[in-house]
Amino acid sequence: MSQKSGRVVAVNGNMVSVRFEGNVAMNEVAYILSNEKKLKSEVIRIRGSEAQVQVYEMTKGIRIGDGVEFTDLMLSVELGPGLLGQIYDGLQNPLPQIAEKTGYFLESGVYLKALSRSLKWTFTPSAKAGDSLRRGDSIGSVPERHFTHRIMLPFDFFGEWKIVSVAEKGEYAIDETIAVVEDARGTKKNLSMVFSWPVKRAIDCYVERLKPDQPMVTKTRIIDTFFPVAKGGTYCIPGPFGAGKTVLQQVTSRYADVDIVILAACGERAGEVVETLKEFPEITDPRTGKSLMERTIIICNTSSMPVASREASVYTAVTLAEYYRQMGLNVLLLADSTSRWAQAMREMSGRLEEIPGEEAFPAYLESVIAAFYERAGIVRLADGSFGSVTIGGTVSPAGGNFEEPVTQATLKVVGAFHGLSRERSDARKYPAIHPLDSWSKYPGIMPKETVEYAHSFLERSAEVGAMMKVVGEEGTSLEDYTVYLKGEFLDAVYLQQNSFDPVDSSVSPERQRKMFRLVLSILAAALQVKDKEDARSWFYEVRQVFMDLNGSKESSELYGLSLAKIEKALAERKPEYDAEAKSILARLE
Ligand code: ADP
Ligand code: MG
Repeated sequence: MSQKSGRVVAVNGNMVSVRFEGNVAMNEVAYILSNEKKLKSEVIRIRGSEAQVQVYEMTKGIRIGDGVEFTDLMLSVELGPGLLGQIYDGLQNPLPQIAEKTGYFLESGVYLKALSRSLKWTFTPSAKAGDSLRRGDSIGSVPERHFTHRIMLPFDFFGEWKIVSVAEKGEYAIDETIAVVEDARGTKKNLSMVFSWPVKRAIDCYVERLKPDQPMVTKTRIIDTFFPVAKGGTYCIPGPFGAGKTVLQQVTSRYADVDIVILAACGERAGEVVETLKEFPEITDPRTGKSLMERTIIICNTSSMPVASREASVYTAVTLAEYYRQMGLNVLLLADSTSRWAQAMREMSGRLEEIPGEEAFPAYLESVIAAFYERAGIVRLADGSFGSVTIGGTVSPAGGNFEEPVTQATLKVVGAFHGLSRERSDARKYPAIHPLDSWSKYPGIMPKETVEYAHSFLERSAEVGAMMKVVGEEGTSLEDYTVYLKGEFLDAVYLQQNSFDPVDSSVSPERQRKMFRLVLSILAAALQVKDKEDARSWFYEVRQVFMDLNGSKESSELYGLSLAKIEKALAERKPEYDAEAKSILARLE
């Protein structure tokens, strides 16, 4: 233990000032000894012999003169088998166990082991005595749920380590020794299946980072077709309160084409997070038929927990994501809502009396947000396998104003933007991603020209729609009016998707492609219509049939019937295609 100690000299909300002796380091964990409890905190500023710490607990009861214990350790998480299926708070306390022990949620100063010491895991060695390993290399593995959990040389074991001995295949608890390793100088270390890692440092035991260019299929049409997300990429979902951010993330966590999902829930309301905790274990994983929780980790904070632990949640979540990436898995981290985290930063910055930036957020807001999203990525590991961490964060700007600092800072760093609109959610057009505001820099599942072609109908339709508000329907030409109807049609049958319908809620890329081609064969066609009324009723009817199609399985009778009806309705209007239309449709053959 280090020879350093301190005393509380001031308490300002969750920020406590401590006078200390000895060498205290930035970001070191310190415990405030208050009322026979040890309250966890982190050093966030040092000036001479006074330090400011942010306390991860309710600070009620802390008194001037209370003792402070420094640990030399950075805020860290435990890494090892048993993380999947867990529900943790920001400090990696298992919440269900805490609930059992102390009634409900967190009593301050109660810390539990993140991983069970009594559970046994079947360890199979893959390395043998004499092998030389580097940090992140596998020593063996254990089965965890339906994954192969690699037992790796801890990430802070720099340089080369030789295996002196490794345990035989068998049942071990995570803190039993499974190998002895030795470095070049002959320093020997015992290894178990658990080690810790500081949450604010990115895990970087990979050979190289690659450009994220493979789509992470979400099975939500508007995302995969129009505003795709890449494996190892980043995206954000800003939207006003109630626009559907949380629902959209839940749908994504269920259907996204990834191995593991980590949810960092910093709730807008206390009840919201509790709802997530109750609902998640009941949801079945469409890939395995088991509970979705088996491949999920939830890190949760409600608005009633101390603000500093929101920050801890976000970092804990991304560290766990990086850990599983190191096993060659694809991980999706969803953070809801990053605005709550930014508000915590603002609060602390205010207490530190720092020079404020825009809207009183700290001047370093942008760099902190950028550093967080930079932890996403697709990487090649030493054994040639690939792993990815994709990060999606919601932002909840007050009044839905995207000009505010958190949305703007996030927009600068992410690769895709799914802006939710109040107008669309009020009209119950879900998911309420605005097709004209949103964008993506990633390649998707459709050829780019085809998507741009479809998108041009949305733009022109919106223009005609705006014009019609001024000049009325009578003042609009039949041609313009048809463009308007086509845009509305694309919106209704393709952009909108019913997340509560068993079929429509998740659409495979193959089916998206078929449907997209079908929609485009209607958009691209010059149709014979008599007048506006005729055009309107034709699109209305075809739309109804298309909705039936969207709701039916490809193997069903209704699917075949609906498809035939649409094709017949189209043929009756003698569609003609110009050269551009033909080439676009050919791209989707
Ligand atoms: P936010 O997180 O943006 O505040 P929520 O995700 O909690 O908003 O959504 C608010 C409400 O909107 C939901 O409770 C639900 O009634 C409705 N809603 C959101 N998304 C959908 C959807 N895809 N389909 C149907 N209803 C939705
Ligand atoms: Mg929400």
